[in-house]
This record gives sequence, C-alpha cells and structure tokens, in this order.
Amino acid sequence: MSIRVRFAPSPTGHLHLGGARTALFNYLLAKKRGGTFIVRIEDTDQTRNVEKADLGFLENLRWLGLHWDEGPDIGGDYGPYHCMDRLNIYQPYVDRLISEGKAYPCYCTEEELETERQESMRQNRIYKYSGKCRDLNAEQRRTLGQEGRKKTVRFRVPEGRLIQFSDDVRGDMKFGSDDIGDFIMVKSDGIPTYHFAVVVDDHLMKITHVIRGEEHLSNTPRQILIYDAFGWEIPQFAHLALILKPSGKKLSKRDESILQFMDQYRSLGYLPEAMNNFLVLLGWSPEGEQELFTLEEMAASFSLDRLHKSGAIFDQAKLDWMNNYYMRQADPERLIDLAVTMFQQQGLIDDRVDVRWIAELISLCGERISHVGELVSMAEPLLRAETVYSEDAMRLLEEDQVQMIANSFLEKVKEDHEWNAIRITDLMKNIHKETGLKGRSLYVAIRAVVFGETQGPDLIHSLLLLGRETVIYRLDHSKMNGIHSKVNNF
Ligand code: GLU
Repeated sequence: MSIRVRFAPSPTGHLHLGGARTALFNYLLAKKRGGTFIVRIEDTDQTRNVEKADLGFLENLRWLGLHWDEGPDIGGDYGPYHCMDRLNIYQPYVDRLISEGKAYPCYCTEEELETERQESMRQNRIYKYSGKCRDLNAEQRRTLGQEGRKKTVRFRVPEGRLIQFSDDVRGDMKFGSDDIGDFIMVKSDGIPTYHFAVVVDDHLMKITHVIRGEEHLSNTPRQILIYDAFGWEIPQFAHLALILKPSGKKLSKRDESILQFMDQYRSLGYLPEAMNNFLVLLGWSPEGEQELFTLEEMAASFSLDRLHKSGAIFDQAKLDWMNNYYMRQADPERLIDLAVTMFQQQGLIDDRVDVRWIAELISLCGERISHVGELVSMAEPLLRAETVYSEDAMRLLEEDQVQMIANSFLEKVKEDHEWNAIRITDLMKNIHKETGLKGRSLYVAIRAVVFGETQGPDLIHSLLLLGRETVIYRLDHSKMNGIHSKVNNF
C-alpha cells in the first residue's frame, strides 16, 4: 500500500523550527517510499486563527522546497484541505457517534465547569469532566435545551480501557482510559474540536503515518478512542522528540533567545537547503558520517527507525556553518539577488552602492559570513558617512606610529590618482620603506584609522570598495576631528 502522510498546521502563527522539521520528515518519508505528501490546514479553532497565516505556512514550505501533492491551493482527491471547509463532512460522523451512544450532548455552562475545575484543584486532583450530562434522558435534555443553554458534544470515554499503540519513536505506549474525562468533540458553535476533526480527516484522507511533534503524544489516546468508536484502523504514529535550547531546556514558542520562525531565517538570508539540512539532523541521524545532504540525498537515506528518542539541541553555530557552506556552493547570482533585496529593504542602495559593488562585497566577505544578511552589517563601516571608532581602534590611534602611518598613507593616496588593488599594495610597500613598519602593525593601523575597526575582511579589497574619495575624506576628516592631533605636528 502506498503511504500517505500529512503536515497539518493550525494557522495560528508562523511556521517555526519544530513545524518545519515535522513538515520535512513527512515530506522525506513520502519521497523515500514513493508516497503522497499532503498539507491540511487545521483551522477549526477559530478563536486562535490568524488571518492569512495559512498562506504564510504554504509560502515557507514552498521556500523550503517541500512541495506537496495535495493541499489547499492545489486540491486533490481527498479535499477540501481546510478543515473549516469540511464541516458538512464531519456532521454525519458526529450524528453516528451520538446515535450509537458513543457521544452525547452536554449542557454544562462555562461557570459550572469552572466550579468543577476549582473543586478538583482544591482537592489536588487532575481535572477530569464529572460526567454530569453523560446519562441525561431525552426529557432532561429537552428541558436544559429549553432553558436556552448552549450544548457541546462530548465523547463518551469507555471505562477501564487500556489504550495501546506502538510509536515509531517512543516504542510501545500504554494509557488507561480512566485518566481521560469525556472530552468535547463538537464545540457549542457546532464546530468540531481538533481531536475529532483530525481523526475523521486522517481516516478519510487515508493517512498511513502520522508524524508530528511530541506535544501531541498525550493527545493520541483520545484520538485512538475515536478511531475505535468508529471501528477504524489507526495510522502508524511517530512523535518527534522536542527541539531544546542550547541549555537543554524546553524551547517555548515565545522564547526569543533563538530565532524560531522560518520567516526570520528567510529575511536574514539563510538558504533553504541549509535550513533543511540543519533540521533533518535535529532528531534523526543518518547511517554513516555524512552531515551535508541535498533534499534528494536526505530522502534517499531517511528512515523512521533512526529517529531519536531524546530531545534535539539547537546549535546556532552548526546552522551558521552549514549556511556558510551552502552559500559557498550557491550560484553567486542567487546571493547577489538576495543581498540586493536586503540592501533595498534597508534603503542602502544609492549612487555608491550598486549591484556590482554588492557582488564585490560578497566576494570580499562571503567566506566570513554565516548568512547574507550579515553583509548589511559588514557593509556598514564602508557606507557610514563618518568613521565610528571601536575602543580598540581608539587605543591604537593614540600610538605615535599609527598616526605616522595614517599621515603617510593620506599623502600617498592624494598624490596617486589610480585606485586598484596593485596600486594600493604598492602604497603599502612604500609606507613600509618610509616608516620601517610592516605586516600586521601597518595593516591594522590603516584599518583602524579608515574603518574604525581593528578586524575585518581583506584590507586592500575593503579600501578598494570604499573608494579613493571616501578614503581621503575619512583620513582628512579624522584629522580634522583631532584624532590625529599629534599627526598635525608631524
Ligand atoms: N494542527 C496541529 C498543530 O498545528 C497538528 C496536529 C497533528 O499533526 O495531528 O500542532
């Protein structure tokens, strides 16, 4: 039987690391096994839906290259793929469970339920619905309905049932039904809850494997009870271990200590191939030592039996290393396009900065940066109207020999109208002859005076990119500001 898997985000926010990893693993399994990858938007919790969030999910999945075979935009034989468009599909299934006595209408008000919750808190018990409406007769239901009470539909959880399933990550799982209270299947607005919709959808869409985050593990027993109530076969489950912070602590959705959303990585210029490669190793390991994989290679070697049980620690340095690797592999045009967009967004494109300048900046800094967005900050010392001096640079500027070098450099740049790498290198050699200073002390001194930094990319090329006029202006200007006060008397 051909496998069918799905990524089923709720459109309540942005695609985050965990969601992207879930989508990737589902995609890889489908590719590996010649199966079908489906995207379904689980939007039945309308209070939490965010407008157009579904489009954001699709856009980011497209960016990652995780193309789906069925989904809300392209349709498919098992649609619709927005749950809110499936309400009439769910209704007969709700009716069936009610008529078989496996579900029942509940008339409890929010206040009554709150009182129950408070009471169990007072007794230090985990809250479970009391079952107050479980055995109402038709007459009692009519009366409560006539009182104008809203009704929900609750699933009647069978007593004393052992719920067992084998999880591809966690192994054999066992839960007792007595820990589960009768839960709401249809809300008072008539819309099914996630638990009910997900089971009906997965069954009707013939999903064979449910690969999702560990946070859904505790939902699975309830869902299995619904499968059982219908007499349906359950899919194979795989609950992916959590992604943890570098400290080993759980990563909450609101944590801002690391970037969590694909949108953020995209706008910083991370490449999708690096994101996929990084994500695949968060919770899965290949058989050999290989660490760098294309999407095709990942699909070829992916298997559920190599998923990890323990949490996967997020490692920014590894992501940056991978992204740097993929940047060096990428077509330069692609990086230039990305960088141009970023410079435009920052309003940094003007007469001094054009596409050629950016291409040169990339060849100057490409080796050193972990994502294209860093180019913008790398370009800053080159684009600033005035040099901003770091503390280290300021200290250097106090030294007589640095001021001597700066002065000599300025004189030579003014005399020589040509501006290319060979000419600048010659200027350096001449300063060396004149001052006797060379190597690091010479280069660092010039860097400090012109760029205000003591470290940075290749000096000759940085000067070239800055342009002769600006170099003269900066040297002159720093002199005017008295930074070379001693140079003035030189
Ligand atoms: N809609 C759920 C979520 O966004 C996914 C549920 C599932 O995969 O079963 O977390």
